[in-house]
Amino acid sequence: MRALQYTTIGRAPEVVEIEKPVPGPGEVLLKVTAAGVCHSDDYVMSLSEEDYREQKYPLPLTLGHEGAGVIAEFGPGVETGLRIGEAVAVYGPWGCGHCLNCSKGWENYCTNAAAEGIRPPGLGSQGAIAEYMIVDDVRHLVPIGDLDPVANVSLTDAGLTPYHAIKRSLPKLGAGTYAVVIGSGGLGHVGIQMLKALSGATVIVLDVSDEKLELATHVGADVTLISDESAAASIREITNGLGADAVFDFVGAAPTIATATAVAAIDSDVTIVGIGGGSAAVGFGTIAYDAAVRIPYWGSRSELIEVFELAKAGKVDVEVQRYPLDEAPRAYEDLHASAIRGRAVIVP
Ligand code: NAD
Ligand code: ZN
Ligand code: ZN
Repeated sequence: MRALQYTTIGRAPEVVEIEKPVPGPGEVLLKVTAAGVCHSDDYVMSLSEEDYREQKYPLPLTLGHEGAGVIAEFGPGVETGLRIGEAVAVYGPWGCGHCLNCSKGWENYCTNAAAEGIRPPGLGSQGAIAEYMIVDDVRHLVPIGDLDPVANVSLTDAGLTPYHAIKRSLPKLGAGTYAVVIGSGGLGHVGIQMLKALSGATVIVLDVSDEKLELATHVGADVTLISDESAAASIREITNGLGADAVFDFVGAAPTIATATAVAAIDSDVTIVGIGGGSAAVGFGTIAYDAAVRIPYWGSRSELIEVFELAKAGKVDVEVQRYPLDEAPRAYEDLHASAIRGRAVIVP
């Protein structure tokens, strides 16, 4: 079968021909129908050889941690109500399944995964950008029914991650409040829709590109601003000097985190989702009183089901740029060049 693999550190990923995998005990083989391209893959491929090895990523690594498919085969011993041919999406942040966090469905915060070597597909295990993929356990499959896999596969990360980030701040986002979204890319443009669907907040969006701000307006942003040193003052003005009740930074670079903390209102949440290498300098006098800084990772299994419910209700709609599997390397070039409107999705 064909797969998009990262084969050489520092080189672009390539489409290669590999053996079709065979599901082992407890595993499930999916025939992939769609796989999303995330900026985190770009981050993984930007790691130095030393950092890559330290993260224990294999080489070659099949990319793709947003996956959807139909069930092709069950490995030995799989007992499930799901059937061959059923359309499913893959819950990506695989955990051990038996620690306290996993028992709550928070496998993204599994306390055993690192020690047991359990890695998400595409981020340590072999990923979804291939004709077939292995899923380690049926509990990591969410049936998607009639939802179009290509249009919705990205909800497994570009939907789940902002949903998890936003849901915890909803008590602070009643009518008359303000939410700031920094970065209207794959995650950000879905996050904007979730804020509009679930909160009463006025949504202010920052990006460095006019095209991305146009996308933000298209998906419901109330106010858009170019992300520069003057953005914080503009946000203070828009919020009558009070600042924003919640800030979601989908970039996480030093300048965006500086903006995020500068515009935080008293008792607000500053949520840094992007892994852009920045850090927050918080201390007495540098951020509003009782502002909380959070660094979330992905989301829980139950939250993924909730995200698909939002999609079924027509409340979130991912802007998708499709690429055939043979052209998957071009999707990463376009992502790197910031030339994707919404999310790139590979269709094998
Ligand atoms: P993306 O490339 O699709 O979107 C990034 C957006 O940020 C683009 O629209 C870009 O124009 C904009 N941007 C860049 N610099 C900016 C700046 N200084 N100010 C404002 N906007 C700026 O990326 P994505 O796939 O949506 O991922 C976003 C980030 O989230 C990445 O860092 C990714 O690695 C990270 N991520 C984190 C998690 C998590 O669990 N914490 C999960 C998925 C992705
Ligand atoms: Zn991702
Ligand atoms: Zn666990």
